[in-house]
Amino acid sequence: MQIFSEIEPMRAFLGKLKRDTGTIGFVPTMGALHPGHLSLVKASQSENSTTVCSIYVNPTQFNNADDLAKYPRTIDRDIAMLNEVNCDVLFCPGNDVMYESGSHIKFDFGSLDTMLEGRFRPGHFSGVALVVSKLFHIVNPDNAYFGQKDFQQYKVIEKLVEDLKFNVSLRCIPIEREPDGLAMSSRNARLSLSQRKKATIFYESMKQAAQMLRNGISWSVIQSEIKATFESMDEIRLEYFELADTSNLNSLESVSDKAILLVAGYVGEVRLIDNLLLEA
Ligand code: AMP
Repeated sequence: MQIFSEIEPMRAFLGKLKRDTGTIGFVPTMGALHPGHLSLVKASQSENSTTVCSIYVNPTQFNNADDLAKYPRTIDRDIAMLNEVNCDVLFCPGNDVMYESGSHIKFDFGSLDTMLEGRFRPGHFSGVALVVSKLFHIVNPDNAYFGQKDFQQYKVIEKLVEDLKFNVSLRCIPIEREPDGLAMSSRNARLSLSQRKKATIFYESMKQAAQMLRNGISWSVIQSEIKATFESMDEIRLEYFELADTSNLNSLESVSDKAILLVAGYVGEVRLIDNLLLEA
């Protein structure tokens, strides 16, 4: 695997590859890699001649300084994992490269920005859009791979690509889960053993809600029951548990042909998110 931390040498390398061999697939990450990230790398490898992964913990998307400081950083292990799956290129720039001239550009995605994650993480999607724009300009990929795990982020990036006419096709890859259902996340490493057990409530509650919806129970009853379950649990703090339309993430009152359950909250000091696509 070729590893770059500077822009120009990687651009030269990728430019030549693109001329000679075909398409570039891109997987942006913040590192602390797990099998969920690797499923994106594998999806890219199945569709492209070259796969580029980036590892960069982007400060502008953190609205909480403590979360940024405590974000797991495991670069040596990440490199070994990417080598293991034969990733072609890794881009791991520093802040001096990504924010050399400071950066004051802000994005506004309208309602997509203020609901769900946006409500609890002001400025988060502006930071995501900024870094993804920079990375798209640097890597110039044909296809880019994102996880359904961050579904709202995917919708924001869809809008970014459409509005700014980025010449890239996006893919949304299903969520990889632990055997007990917990969505894989770099943040899971920060959970204590007892917190790790409690964290299964996120997926369990969505499965339970999906079953209740199938049984014809009204959404308001389901939502308040689920909220009460979260409230009864020690060390768990729910931020939202919503039923939404996948096309615009507006709230739904019943399942349509494009519905998704979305959940976010804290286990101890660790913030987790998850979602579940529903069948009509
Ligand atoms: P992150 O490093 O957390 O910014 O994630 C990088 C990419 O991996 C994003 O597109 C995430 O949605 C995706 N991702 C994170 N966790 C998972 C998972 N459990 N399954 C599939 N993709 C994931």
